[in-house]
Amino acid sequence: MVTRFAPSPTGRLHLGHAFAAKVAFNFSKNQNFNCLLRIEDIDHTRCTNKYTLEIYQELDWLGFDWPLPVKVQSKHYYDYAKAIKNLCNLGLAYECPLTRGNIRDGLLPINKGTIVKGYLDNFKDGNSKPNITNSIRLDLKKSLQYVKDQELTFIETGSGTENKVNSKIALMNAVENNKPDPIIARKDIGVSYHIAVTYDDHYQKITHVVRGYDLYESTHLHVLIQKLSNWRTPKYHHHPVLNNEYGDKLSKRGLDTTIRSLRSNGLTAQQVLDMATL
Ligand code: GLU
Repeated sequence: MVTRFAPSPTGRLHLGHAFAAKVAFNFSKNQNFNCLLRIEDIDHTRCTNKYTLEIYQELDWLGFDWPLPVKVQSKHYYDYAKAIKNLCNLGLAYECPLTRGNIRDGLLPINKGTIVKGYLDNFKDGNSKPNITNSIRLDLKKSLQYVKDQELTFIETGSGTENKVNSKIALMNAVENNKPDPIIARKDIGVSYHIAVTYDDHYQKITHVVRGYDLYESTHLHVLIQKLSNWRTPKYHHHPVLNNEYGDKLSKRGLDTTIRSLRSNGLTAQQVLDMATL
């Protein structure tokens, strides 16, 4: 049995991260299995090595422990691209030139049957991003037809409870309500969070994904990607996200809640962990 804590180095670690780490590491400790650390840094527009280093330092200071080596996603673009290519080969993905602004203006992505050609041709190793001129979307309707005879569900585990969640219904609703098809390769980074996270959960044989409830809706898509890619669906435990006093998800702008500043103000690791509660 194995779980993971998978932060993105987009800023300083704050109390919200400490809370999420506590839930993931305690979840595994209580059940006597490993918690891996994974650095989710494929988005080079927001992630930096400096913050990756800080993640190691702050988590270590807080007293968490993880097996080595740590998987750093930005070293594995090629693997994620292969997973995307596989969905293209199934005829379930298409190139889409629409920007977010276009979509806000009411335009809908349409699969014109364009076959995504040459997606893997431009790069040859794990460190370089695929160069693409358009983003690539997964055709949800076609994908649901492709797996129509199969169950699309996941198990949500709480403390001592297990519920089966039906992702097919949620995804069918998205199609019926004309929600834009999900992006599986972003134009600017060549891959996407949805692919990288599902690929790694599969590759690292994660049995229990422990993460914030803000990602609950994405799980339906992740279940579909797992089914299309012949990957096993792990169990999920979505925990509440620690909010600040304004009701926002704790963010980097709340400088005083960063682990670094709490530490330099003389708090001990235990005091910071105690503060990181709902
Ligand atoms: N890297 C994501 C984040 O920092 C978490 C992804 C996940 O746990 O699935 O929000």
